Amino acid sequence: MSADRLSSVSKEAKPESVSLCPLDPAAAPEQELLCIFGTGDLGRSLGQRLLHSGYRVVYGSRRPQSCGPLPQGAQAMSHEAAAQSASLVFLCIHREHYDFLENLAPRLQGKVLVDVSNNLKKNLYPEANAECLQRMIPGAHVVKAFNTLSAWALQNGPSDANRQVYLCGNGAEAKQAVAEVATKLGFAALDKGSLSAARELEEFPLQLFPEWRMPLYVALGLTAFIFVYVVIREVVYAYVEQGEDDSFRIMVSLANKVFPIVSLIMLSLCYLPGVIAGFIQLYIGTKYRRFPDWLDRWMLCRKQLGLVALGFAFLHMVYTLIIPIRYYVIFWSSANTVSKIRENRTSVFDTTTAWRSDSYYSMGILGFGLFLLLGITSLPSVSNALSWREFSFIQSKLGYLTVFFCTLHTYLYGWDKFLRSYKWHMPPAYMLSLLLPSVLLVLKLLLLLPCVDRSLTRIRQGWERTGTQDGTGKPLLT
Ligand code: NAP
Repeated sequence: MSADRLSSVSKEAKPESVSLCPLDPAAAPEQELLCIFGTGDLGRSLGQRLLHSGYRVVYGSRRPQSCGPLPQGAQAMSHEAAAQSASLVFLCIHREHYDFLENLAPRLQGKVLVDVSNNLKKNLYPEANAECLQRMIPGAHVVKAFNTLSAWALQNGPSDANRQVYLCGNGAEAKQAVAEVATKLGFAALDKGSLSAARELEEFPLQLFPEWRMPLYVALGLTAFIFVYVVIREVVYAYVEQGEDDSFRIMVSLANKVFPIVSLIMLSLCYLPGVIAGFIQLYIGTKYRRFPDWLDRWMLCRKQLGLVALGFAFLHMVYTLIIPIRYYVIFWSSANTVSKIRENRTSVFDTTTAWRSDSYYSMGILGFGLFLLLGITSLPSVSNALSWREFSFIQSKLGYLTVFFCTLHTYLYGWDKFLRSYKWHMPPAYMLSLLLPSVLLVLKLLLLLPCVDRSLTRIRQGWERTGTQDGTGKPLLT
């Protein structure tokens, strides 16, 4: 290529090159002006973030001259003047002070009003704050947004844990305008629909672990029941029948019996609804019929059931690790050695016992390792990085393998004591924990039979058994 040609190419390329800093300040686009009513905590944090993101900010305040320190670059004026200067107004005031807005209604006609308010309690008012605002100022476009972020989160900017801004409203353009602001601030805007979703958004910050409630109640109930059971069987029985005080065992030995039992039962409860759902679908011959409510609710808290089970498994692991340093264990092991020396006695190495104890520990370690993997992959940041197939492989296939290892670990613990060692007709507590996982594994095996698996897969792909009836007696296929 000739030098002339090269220079012509570079000349042609110049107009397409981008200047990072506009040479002519007059040519810079004017920054958009946004208005904030209220100079409190949220108003100031929001104003600061807006200013950092390239907006101009004007505050509407009752006391514009004495409203305290504002973010640098922001102006404060009366509500009327501030409202007039911008087309988008953030209302950073509490709902009980909305009354004054009625007088401002003519000034707020056609403006986008962003309601960020929350209440102190659920159902405090008959209608959502945003709906009340829309009723007060029908000419404005009310959008509910930013209420799920705290002033602190706004001040610090978006982080992985807090990136989402939920919004809802009746006007698509108004929502679009608010979504653009949220995106420019670095948040991800999530449209939750019309203003009728405002109550749901307002209740969001008041939620107290709703999905965790049922799993925690189950864990609490099971822990209490198993604890009382083992205390009666191990402590009360020894006291009544043998006159021995074994109450010291409550703190470690008995706790370490309760934790694995609760863990295994809860792990089974995490997988059982999936199996029940499979049998229901096989029975009704379609996947287009709703499951009963109890099963729906149960399925929705499977992740929490699994994580609580993992917590108990972790406690079991830690309590097991401290066994060798317990006074009780050290005392009896040295007493045993001394008595053997005194009696000049040695024990014969038992290969079967060695196999049993190694297999028991090995199954426990493998089960716990897989259990950890299930817990880690249930974290949103990890599960989002997995494909659906990878996620379901880990959570389903490896999940059942975890149940299998943990169940086998418990069977090996029982070994030849199984179905023996009853005290007051009470079987050992570990036997109670085996019932549910054993039933689960048998049911799962039945579902895995090729003929059953084929039918279930077809149903889950949308096939329906001919003549399947819905609740009204009409065929499901039309
Ligand atoms: P705040 O610190 O108490 O500030 C509220 C502001 O409202 C005051 O600074 C005041 O500003 C104005 N105001 C007070 N009484 C008024 C009245 N009678 N008439 C007109 N304006 C009045 O409250 P905040 O924490 O910023 O919360 C503001 C809103 O954001 C609330 O609805 C809250 O639910 C919501 N929110 C807050 C957070 C948070 O982390 N703080 C998080 C999410 C949502 P002037 O003195 O300038 O008029």
